[in-house]
Amino acid sequence: MLFPQRYDVIVIGGGHAGTEAALTSARAGASTLLLSHSIETIGQMSCNPAIGGIGKGHLVKEIDALGGIMGRAADRAGIQWRTLNASKGPAVRATRCQADRSLYRAAIRHAVENQPNLNVFQQAVDDLTLEGNRVTGVVTQMGLRFTADRVVLTAGTFLAGKIHVGQANYAGGRAGDAPALTLAQRLRELPLGVARLKTGTPPRIDGRSIDYSTLDEQPGDDPMPVFSFTGSAADHPRQVSCWITHTSERTHDVIRAGLDRSPLFTGAIEGVGPRYCPSIEDKVVRFADKTSHQIFIEPEGLDTHEIYPNGISTSLPFDVQYDLVRSIRGFEHAVITRPGYAIEYDYFDPRGLRASLETQAIDGLYFAGQINGTTGYEEAAAQGLIAGLNAARASQGLAPWTPRRDEAYIGVLIDDLVTNGTIEPYRMFTSRAEYRLQLREDNADLRLTGHGRDLGLVDDTQWAAFATKRDAIEREQARLKALWVVPGQPLAAGLDAATGVTLSKEATAHDLLRRPELDYAKLVRVPGLGPGVDDARVAEQVEVQAKYAGYLDRQRDDIDRQRRSEDTPIPRDFDYTAVSGLSAEVTAKLTKARPDTIGQASRISGVTPAAISLLLVHLKRQA
Ligand code: FAD
Repeated sequence: MLFPQRYDVIVIGGGHAGTEAALTSARAGASTLLLSHSIETIGQMSCNPAIGGIGKGHLVKEIDALGGIMGRAADRAGIQWRTLNASKGPAVRATRCQADRSLYRAAIRHAVENQPNLNVFQQAVDDLTLEGNRVTGVVTQMGLRFTADRVVLTAGTFLAGKIHVGQANYAGGRAGDAPALTLAQRLRELPLGVARLKTGTPPRIDGRSIDYSTLDEQPGDDPMPVFSFTGSAADHPRQVSCWITHTSERTHDVIRAGLDRSPLFTGAIEGVGPRYCPSIEDKVVRFADKTSHQIFIEPEGLDTHEIYPNGISTSLPFDVQYDLVRSIRGFEHAVITRPGYAIEYDYFDPRGLRASLETQAIDGLYFAGQINGTTGYEEAAAQGLIAGLNAARASQGLAPWTPRRDEAYIGVLIDDLVTNGTIEPYRMFTSRAEYRLQLREDNADLRLTGHGRDLGLVDDTQWAAFATKRDAIEREQARLKALWVVPGQPLAAGLDAATGVTLSKEATAHDLLRRPELDYAKLVRVPGLGPGVDDARVAEQVEVQAKYAGYLDRQRDDIDRQRRSEDTPIPRDFDYTAVSGLSAEVTAKLTKARPDTIGQASRISGVTPAAISLLLVHLKRQA
């Protein structure tokens, strides 16, 4: 049957990429359909119940600044909140929350079900319909045909998913869910560059069987951080603690004795796993001299006893899992509720994508999330937002939009993927960004909410809150810049008395913020320099922008210089063989990668600055 309604955009998959894609597409004004295996699993966290962390928290804030859902959902689901790297510089500070799995899913589902322009339909998609090299719709498991000129695929770990526990293996999308086999087979017939990756998860434990008396408690921070720029700590549910324990030498002995039955070491698993989230057997082999590894004991939610032991992801046989768990302090009588497992799945070489996340091979087909070789909810959601946005914009005849590397971690993520690809699960780190100081969590709204508003993604409430904050920052900066503190006059005497800072020459109150011994709170307590602003987020911006002004200005100059040639577009059908002087290797690489801009071309490994100059000269001559 042909479904009677035609959609502008169809999104396949209700995970983190898919929900963000569907919501964004609908917000951008496209009639959108979200097709997923099960409405019950919309917003499901496949692995650890946590959002954020270093680099990932930055992505969540950026998604929020662009009107996305992840930050607001996490605010409603976070049961233990921390600011990581709190004592370090603002560029690497990051928010993380332990999330209640059900509350998170409920928050995402609520947003999806209440989004105008968005319908949901529960069915597995088995096929794409194509006309030539253009997508025209999808066909579901029961033969229902839906039509749309733009399709966003976000199938996560489900494509030809294969689950391993010891020597046993079976087809699955993740534990408890069927895989997408027919669709995977169909995609393998298309010119998309498919390969295999793997990831894993630990066994879960009934918290009532854990002896907490010997473990270290890790309460959340007070005050609690927040993800959404329009949220507050009052949105958070009841808070609980996490706990810490460690593997023992006995644990490592148990693991070593089981390695001959580990699918990772017997060659049963071909896919490459996440470098920064290795399984416990991988850690024991790779770091053979270490006698202990840390394990975070993380509650799965407020209404369940299940806990997630973060750090012992494994695909060892279940009998080995049982013994290794019970060899850990506090877990001596642990009752396992679900076995750990590894999963292998199909992903596609992201170098086959444009920066809009549209595939180069099939017009109108967009890819987002784990299928592009990334790992993590935040990386998936960030891509979903961009793919959904660009699918909607294409349906309206509008140009695509993707943030630049100097504007957002989302820009870094997508540029890294489409330019250099990945052969192992890619996760975000602050070290991946060259302009870290610009790309802080705290200023994600200042960097992106204006874009979000122009793109039609930021609603009036979010925009009004943003404008109020931005204006308050500017007003307070102007006030401090106009306030001169002159040695020998009362303000300077007050400063000396309140803070011990003696001025040798006049300075504005704003300049004083650059001094390491002063911060905003101290400054505005000085009689005549206060009272300052009440809003802590405004105060934070005034302080950070003043303290790092020198570095920020220098970085901005660098960025401007780079950008002048970075943004030069390269036509899609550009003939690299016509550029005289380009080596055969560089010509082949550029022809394969088909970069959209000079900036992207310059980041392809092996493409030298000399080759970029030749390209620029050629493009200028053609213009
Ligand atoms: P998913 O969240 O997998 O969502 C895919 C969605 O698509 C699902 O709703 C599914 O039902 C739907 N779907 C798939 N195929 C079809 C189809 N044909 N028709 C209709 N619907 C379809 N991340 C980490 O950062 N660290 C980890 O340690 C980690 N470990 C993991 C361990 C395991 C076992 C698994 C399964 C995942 C792990 N992850 C980990 C990855 C994390 O779960 C993903 O990065 C994230 O969920 C990706 O989001 P996504 O939206 O791309 O895909």
